[in-house]
Amino acid sequence: MQKNDLKALVEQIYENLLERIDAEKEASKAQVIGYLKDAIDIVTNINDKDLDTLEHAKESFKNSYKEIAKESLNSYKTTNEKFGELTKLNKDTVEKCNEQHIDLNALSEKFHDIHTHMSDEVNKANKVISDLHQKVKILEETSNLDPLTKVFNRRALSSYLSEVCSNKSVPYTLHVMMIDIDNFKTINDKYGHVAGDKILIFISNILRKTLRDGDKIFRYGGEEFTIVINRNSNEQCEIIANRLLHLISSNNLIYMGERISVTASIGVTKLKESDTPDSLLSRADKALYNSKKSGKNMVSKDCD
Ligand code: GH3
Ligand code: MG
Ligand code: MG
Repeated sequence: MQKNDLKALVEQIYENLLERIDAEKEASKAQVIGYLKDAIDIVTNINDKDLDTLEHAKESFKNSYKEIAKESLNSYKTTNEKFGELTKLNKDTVEKCNEQHIDLNALSEKFHDIHTHMSDEVNKANKVISDLHQKVKILEETSNLDPLTKVFNRRALSSYLSEVCSNKSVPYTLHVMMIDIDNFKTINDKYGHVAGDKILIFISNILRKTLRDGDKIFRYGGEEFTIVINRNSNEQCEIIANRLLHLISSNNLIYMGERISVTASIGVTKLKESDTPDSLLSRADKALYNSKKSGKNMVSKDCD
């Protein structure tokens, strides 16, 4: 669409210039070539980054074009006056001027060049944009963020817990929560995968809004999240977990006109000095399993 609009602009300039040439009794070849050079400069000087904003590209081109047209007309006027004087003074000069009539074929070729040049510029800009998209994708894949929910991914969880567990003298209490969406397969089956994805984003947002800055949220996998909570008592963690469940179950998620009801289950545990990442996560997972077994939409803890 960008490309077509820009092409249309060039065509418009082309038509316009032909009209102006037709209207002139005398027009110097040098003037028209100058005009074309200016137009090429404008096209060449459009920044790649500006081309991704269609309106900007259009505007800068139109405005520049107006300037060129103005300058061109002024120089036509001056040239014609000069030609007039020379014609009176010298027959030879008149003959030379006559030799300089416009060659419309050459002119068309010049405009075709501009057209091609602009298309190249647009293609270059589009390539830059698609390369950037690709780079963002690769960065997301190789970084610590989950591309869907934008919370930390499992790779980040592993390195974070390894660091925590290798530093045996963590000077504060640390709790780990495992959250798993209830009956997510049924939700996916009933409303579709896109709705499922929206729920994952929705729940991540609830987690982000509810937890404190120092707390960390990870997507453990599929429909499971792990949260690391610093400096809180067992009781406080249980309160936080229940608050999260309440926010999730009392949600207002409307998809295709239907309210989707979602609940989740949570298992909470506390870091022990002897823990490895595996032992810590497996305790949280067992607590979560208890919540599932006991009816879902509830919190279980193992915080000795
Ligand atoms: P439970 O209450 O016991 O946890 O049951 P469940 O259905 O939530 O658990 P189960 O493990 O049977 O199914 C998990 C489903 O999560 C299956 C899978 O299709 C879905 N899922 C995993 N990752 C994604 C994802 O990124 N997007 C969507 N839409 N669905 C996902
Ligand atoms: Mg699961
Ligand atoms: Mg589940």
